[in-house]
Amino acid sequence: MKELEERIKKDGVVLNADVLKVGSFLNQQIDIVLLKHMAEEVKRLFPEEVTKVLTIEASGIAFATAIGLEYGVPVVFAKKSKTANVSGELVSAEVKSFTHNCTNLISINKDYITRDDKVLIADDFLAEGNALAGLIEIVEKCGGKVVGAAIQIEKAYQSGGDRIRSLGFRVESLARIVEMTENKIVFK
Ligand code: 5GP
Repeated sequence: MKELEERIKKDGVVLNADVLKVGSFLNQQIDIVLLKHMAEEVKRLFPEEVTKVLTIEASGIAFATAIGLEYGVPVVFAKKSKTANVSGELVSAEVKSFTHNCTNLISINKDYITRDDKVLIADDFLAEGNALAGLIEIVEKCGGKVVGAAIQIEKAYQSGGDRIRSLGFRVESLARIVEMTENKIVFK
């Protein structure tokens, strides 16, 4: 998606070869016009029936919510820690965090995804694919169907995209970075 690629080039900050910061327009301060255009593009890419959108806290929530509005369906986000406000029976998966170098048990209430659900997974970044694999595991444990995954930025030089696609899941990324240095970001 040209609009997103141009914005990444203009306002993205490369921390090192592995981490891109997009806090000024995607995941701390959010450009809602760009967000809406991204959600519309996701709807165009996945015209099939979707009954729920699933993401992981925190930075996937804005994107997932905008997508949920396009389809007119509920948005569920997996929590990274068991807090007092998570109640009922949980469905969980272990996810190694790319940015924090730790492992989180991510969970949703088991009632939020059922065997009738057709779930579109959404997240801000795809790196090694651990977050996506954990979300897929949760949908499958609930008996739902994974329609596919919509990603804002895929770092295609990392292993996650190939890993998840080779399992047979459809992954659509709005921007695919094939090379990233402090001075240069190259898109596919
Ligand atoms: P994965 O599980 O695919 O290795 O990493 C995806 C998760 O790590 C995303 O949910 C995202 O929050 C975070 N992440 C991975 N790479 C980056 C990056 O370059 N920049 C930012 N801001 N987050 C990233």
